[in-house]
Amino acid sequence: MLDFVGLEDDLSAEERMIRDTARDFVESEIKPDIGEHFIEGTFPTDIIPKMGEMGFFAPNLDGYGLPGVSETAYGLLMQELEAGDSGLRSMASVQGALVMYPIHAYGSEEQKEEWLPAMGRGDAVGCFGLTEPQHGSNPSGMETHAEKRGDEYVLNGAKTWITNSPIADVAVVWAKDRSDDDTVRGFLVETDREGVTTNKLDEKLSLRASITGEIGLNDVVVPEENVLPGVSGMKGPLSCLTQARYGIAWGVIGAARDAFEEAREYAKGREQFGQPIAGFQLQQQKLAEQATQITTAQLLAHRLADLKERGDLEPAHVSMAKRNNVRMARDMSRVAREMLGGNGISADYSPMRHMANMETVYTYEGTHDIHTLVLGQELTGIQAFQ
Ligand SMILES: Cc1cc2nc3c(=O)[nH]c(=O)nc-3n(C[C@H](O)[C@H](O)[C@H](O)COP(=O)(O)OP(=O)(O)OC[C@H]3O[C@@H](n4cnc5c(N)ncnc54)[C@H](O)[C@@H]3O)c2cc1C
Repeated sequence: MLDFVGLEDDLSAEERMIRDTARDFVESEIKPDIGEHFIEGTFPTDIIPKMGEMGFFAPNLDGYGLPGVSETAYGLLMQELEAGDSGLRSMASVQGALVMYPIHAYGSEEQKEEWLPAMGRGDAVGCFGLTEPQHGSNPSGMETHAEKRGDEYVLNGAKTWITNSPIADVAVVWAKDRSDDDTVRGFLVETDREGVTTNKLDEKLSLRASITGEIGLNDVVVPEENVLPGVSGMKGPLSCLTQARYGIAWGVIGAARDAFEEAREYAKGREQFGQPIAGFQLQQQKLAEQATQITTAQLLAHRLADLKERGDLEPAHVSMAKRNNVRMARDMSRVAREMLGGNGISADYSPMRHMANMETVYTYEGTHDIHTLVLGQELTGIQAFQ
């Protein structure tokens, strides 16, 4: 596997073990069927408890049965999962960074005890409801709202493009509290509550091996105890997104690396004009470019892990890495695809699947444009969002 500047030499024994475990899991449990799942538009839900057993959900958190591994180990895990498919890494990111993280950081003791061990084991599945049909890049415009009635809240609204909502047991729903000056709050909404619907969105052309849906909320009553007590305002959802984007910045390197390795192997075996195509300068240029881009993305990800570990990671650092690394994986998976010629468009090979997945990853968790604007504001002090 590509590790051109020897980053693996600096890994601890535990980090290496977690990386290897995830890599073996992806090889044996994911790679054999993932092309089929992509074609069918399905996610192998039977692996969710297995992923829990292996400790793939929020392993960087501690307590409540969670191991509290290093941020590098967590990043490596995301990288290996996304080498399998972005749908697999998305499952782990949503469960860990977007649902378990806010419960861990902002939840009551009862909420933590109810959900964290079960979600860590993969016995319960969560989803994160922020995006709405009319409010994507600007989630603060959200219309979903809650109204206090005695010691309960009544929720109304609609969320869309929600990873895992059709299979989720609980949704973290971000809504404006009309009884408190429209302050944004997080609500834990069990999906079997009356008035909750979670329609599946079909016919995606990207992230096909992932379940995506809506969340409809029609006079849904939740007890006051279901509010996340530790956070209010947009800091709640945005802080979760910073956690998930950190994992994405690592994960996409796995997708690009997998596409690169497939192209390298193919180029060495495929003969045209009486010699392996890997012997042609044009193909070597493509491999050299992929290896360089992947390596620079790895360096950025490792630096982010160090900053996160010592508490110095800022959202703008994560914006830069998400923006750069996803663009890199999007561009490089296309280069890998073209190296496979006609076979490159077949689901028997991974590059085009990764390439299609990258259209989603480029768009969700803050589009490439939005991260550009975040960086622009950081660099100039002037916001150019509106
Ligand atoms: C497969 C998939 C899974 C997803 N999973 C989840 C999930 O689990 N939970 C969740 O809450 N959301 C999820 N999303 C939603 C995702 O986060 C949104 O699609 C994303 O934030 C973009 O919002 P939008 O689609 O409404 O696009 P829009 O915000 O309408 O953007 C359209 C275009 O306009 C550009 N644009 C917007 N504002 C500006 C500006 N100020 N300046 C310049 N350009 C601008 C954007 O960059 C984009 O190119 C998912 C999306 C997909 C595709």
